[in-house]
Amino acid sequence: MSVKSLISQIQTYNPDAEVELLERCYRFSQKAHKGQRRKSGEPYFTHCLKTAEILAELRLDTHTICAGLMHDVLEDTGIKREEMKVRFGANIANLVEGVTKIGQYKLSIASQAPAAKNTVEQRVHRKRQAETYRKLLLATAEDMRVILIKLADRLHNMETLEFLSSEKCQRIAKETLEIYAPIAHRLGLWRIMGRLEDLAFKHLYPIEYRKIAELLNQKLTEREAYCEKMVKQIRGELEKRNVFADVHGRTKHIYSIHQKMQQKKTPFSEIQDLIGLRILVKTEADCYIALGALHSKWNYHPDRLRDWIGQPKKNGYQSLHTTILDNGRPIEIQVRTYQMHKIAEDGIAAHWSYKEGLPRSQQGRSIFASYKQILEDIQEAQDSPHHFVESMKLELFQDEVYVFSPKGDLFRLPAGATAIDFAYKIHTDVGHTCVGAEVNGAVAPIRRVLENGDQVNIRTRPNGRPSRSWLSYVKTATARTKINHWFREKDKTEALELGKKLLAAELRVSYLNSRDYLNSPKLLDIAKQLKLKNIEELFVRIGNADESATHVVNLLKPEVPKPETEPSEDTNRQQKLESPPAIQLENDIDLGMIRIMKCCNPIPGDQVIGYLTRGRGVSVHRAGCIRILDEPERLLGVKWHEKPPSENGDHPPLVYPVKILVECNDRPGMLGEITTAIAHYKVNIRSGTFQPSAVHIDSEASDNLTIDVIGARQLDEVLQAIRHLKGVQRVTRKS
Ligand code: MN
Repeated sequence: MSVKSLISQIQTYNPDAEVELLERCYRFSQKAHKGQRRKSGEPYFTHCLKTAEILAELRLDTHTICAGLMHDVLEDTGIKREEMKVRFGANIANLVEGVTKIGQYKLSIASQAPAAKNTVEQRVHRKRQAETYRKLLLATAEDMRVILIKLADRLHNMETLEFLSSEKCQRIAKETLEIYAPIAHRLGLWRIMGRLEDLAFKHLYPIEYRKIAELLNQKLTEREAYCEKMVKQIRGELEKRNVFADVHGRTKHIYSIHQKMQQKKTPFSEIQDLIGLRILVKTEADCYIALGALHSKWNYHPDRLRDWIGQPKKNGYQSLHTTILDNGRPIEIQVRTYQMHKIAEDGIAAHWSYKEGLPRSQQGRSIFASYKQILEDIQEAQDSPHHFVESMKLELFQDEVYVFSPKGDLFRLPAGATAIDFAYKIHTDVGHTCVGAEVNGAVAPIRRVLENGDQVNIRTRPNGRPSRSWLSYVKTATARTKINHWFREKDKTEALELGKKLLAAELRVSYLNSRDYLNSPKLLDIAKQLKLKNIEELFVRIGNADESATHVVNLLKPEVPKPETEPSEDTNRQQKLESPPAIQLENDIDLGMIRIMKCCNPIPGDQVIGYLTRGRGVSVHRAGCIRILDEPERLLGVKWHEKPPSENGDHPPLVYPVKILVECNDRPGMLGEITTAIAHYKVNIRSGTFQPSAVHIDSEASDNLTIDVIGARQLDEVLQAIRHLKGVQRVTRKS
């Protein structure tokens, strides 16, 4: 094809085409690719020209065709975008750059790989692919024409695929079937989609392809004769009603027959509707008259009747579909106007203004808008790359179902969508609180797959909440995104609560009052120090085990002076003087027996609190013991006797067993150092176990000891001393 014939083809639909610009682009590209050859041996430029021709078939604007002519110039020749911009303007240069960028993504989606091979590398691989896929689609959303050029480019490459190595050939065919054909479908580029699918199918499944092609051929004569007979009869019926119409037989493309055989699990011989007819009329009213004529002459399948005129598909497709029965033989018939036909064949391209290079009609703009919406929805749902690719394919490929709310409002959902998808489509909160559904007046589970025309009523309950199991059957990216978001928020709230509790507990074992610390500016300082925005974030990190509560408490702790190397004489004397301690109520009234509780094991010096039991006197707990938080009206102030009456000066000091846990590095001599530190305070070790801890990493060990102390002060000193030993991570009082 010469530049002249390309231009005259364009002029058939666009008399104002910029001829001079087209000629310049043609020559420029031809010169740039000079000397380069395709694998087929043809000059490289043939490919560029073929791409431009496909774009002209789609009746696109001059700039798109110019960019089509030059679409490989930036990638394959030394020419830079700047030069192109200077010569042909930013518009064309941007288009070419867009196509070049897409070409750099080598996509072969591994999502179909068996789940068993779900190795780390595979997940990483998938994630990377999903990411490039997302980029590709977002790039197309900026200027739709980029993807139209890419599709034309891909179509010609598919036509010449046999010249490539078989490995490359498989990759490109797979990518075409999984990505480019669905995009063509979504944009309503029906013819291009059919050609892409058949070419890809031929390379990926050559045996199946040949089988179907041969079977189609065998029955060709019989089919053609039958078709001719039906066409005649239908024409007759339409003439009776004064409808002027073109009636044609049409063949399905091979891949769609293959899919039908797969879906319905039927052999070729049982695929009955290989014959389809198409009736083209002038007006919308004629469409319905023609349909009436068909239905009065033949029986038809009521459940296969579709009115895509009253409710156009998302990609703009309009038609009436019916399946009539001719002596029991089903025949699919499409009825549409000439204008609808053009759109049915070329989709968004049929809505294109070849003057402005923009969607011309309201409908064209809305197709574009719906495509963009899908991309945005799916972009948000990027929780898992696997799901990303899956929902992308689904949303691009799937047909839609139309369902109604109880008020009769129409909603459009991808085929296979469930009541849950519908609930989220209505409103996020309806989705979150959904507990059941009624479909056509009957109670249905929320996972019910909706069908065309269903009337769906969603039942909600104020305390209803999403379930993770929903994720396994929602079909729309929107619902998936919203459910995931809900769980992320919930997890966050739970982590926050847990983090708060953990920190409070950790403060308690360090004898710090949680009320003084949990909201303190000091804690905020620590959060900031850890590069967090606020205290809440710190709680969330602790709750998620990203930060240890002990670490935070250590940061919070006021500096404690190191114990002196020798216990002072004072302490020694005091120990000797101390005699059996006792507890008294603050206001000295007698409320019966006073018991020191085992749960928190208070020892003299601990902050204590009394709890008035029902009939069993007063029990004494350490302040902050979780057992006493519930009934504040039963709490009583108690204190240790400050100077207990000394009955016998020689009486050995009463000691209290306290369990402590030492977590430390497992190094030689560690245990010895710990016991020495304890012995230094003349404190007895009642029992102990020392073991590498299973909970911690290998290098760590834990030491469970029970030591006898005379009071909280001594205990504190011992704990501090151990804490200061090299290799000790933390020391906690367990009771
Ligand atoms: Mn190319």
